[in-house]
Parts: sequence; structure tokens; C-alpha cells
Amino acid sequence: MSDAGAARPAAFLDRDGVLNLDVGFVSRPDQVRWVNGAFDAVRLLNATGYLVLVVTNQAGIARGLYGCGDVERLHAWMNREMARRGARIDDFRYSPYHPDFDDGRYRDRAHWRKPAPGMLLHLAECWPVDLSRSFMVGDRASDMEAAAAAGVRGYPFAGGNLHDRIRDILAGSGPARAI
Ligand SMILES: [Mg+2]
Repeated sequence: MSDAGAARPAAFLDRDGVLNLDVGFVSRPDQVRWVNGAFDAVRLLNATGYLVLVVTNQAGIARGLYGCGDVERLHAWMNREMARRGARIDDFRYSPYHPDFDDGRYRDRAHWRKPAPGMLLHLAECWPVDLSRSFMVGDRASDMEAAAAAGVRGYPFAGGNLHDRIRDILAGSGPARAI
């Protein structure tokens, strides 16, 4: 970023399997089972000056199972649920693309599909992100590969309490700069 002084670290979070349980093709609020510690984890990141940026593959769209509007409504609902608990997700990106199912509609976002780093890099253009102090948390190898391709550290999350995992990551990363 040109205004390096304002740049903040970002926590890039996968959605399914990190914030909510991955029960397969989650597209509605009634399908969301929050991971233990999800709200506390986001509050902790907010309080320590991290941008909280969700990056999620949503091939269910290319498969025709649900639409972009469903995903965007779900993300708005997720952030309302966060807000009710004093937490805030700053932004979301999703990739509707899948190479086996896409009919061309979403080819322009093929580079957003993890393990490609497109969603992270797009967010880093839209927000004042300091990638050198940022990290990604995900439950799949493709999350770690996307992180590496974007030049940020990747931390796997294998379930359990997300707040505890994030707290440990922050402890190992050194303090975020106060804002
Ligand atoms: Mg996942």
C-alpha cells in the first residue's frame, strides 16, 4: 500500500471448517453451526487491530446448488450474528467457480478459487493490509497453499476452540501494532 503507515495486519479466515462446521454446502442460516470460540476469536482479532477477512470457496454456486445472492445474504446474516456479540468481520470474498462444473459464468474468478491466492490478494488491494504481518487460518491444504501463494503465514485449524487457536497464533506472532 502507498500509505504504509496505515497498513494493518489481516487475519484471513476460511469459513466452512473454521468459523462454522463444514457440514457441506452451507448456504442458509439454519445450516450454520458456529465453531466453539468463533465469536470470541473474531472479537480478539478486532481488539488487537487485525482486519478480519473471510475467504471461502463456494463451488456450490457453480454446481447450481445455490446462488451468489444466497451466499451474500448468509454472510450479511453471519455478520449480524457477530455484531450481536460485539464482533465484526470486516469483509468477505467467495469464489463461485469450480473447474468441473463451471459453464463459463464464473471463469473470471477462477483465480479466486483456493489454492489460488486471488481472494486474499484482492482483499489486500481493497483494504490497507500489511501482508508481512498477516496470516491465514484454514482447515484444508488448499487454504495453506493459498496463504503461501499470497505470501502470508498459514495456520491449520483442525477443530476445537477457534479463540484458543487464534490466541496461540497471536502469542507466537508477536503483538499487533496498536491502532
Ligand atoms: Mg474449509
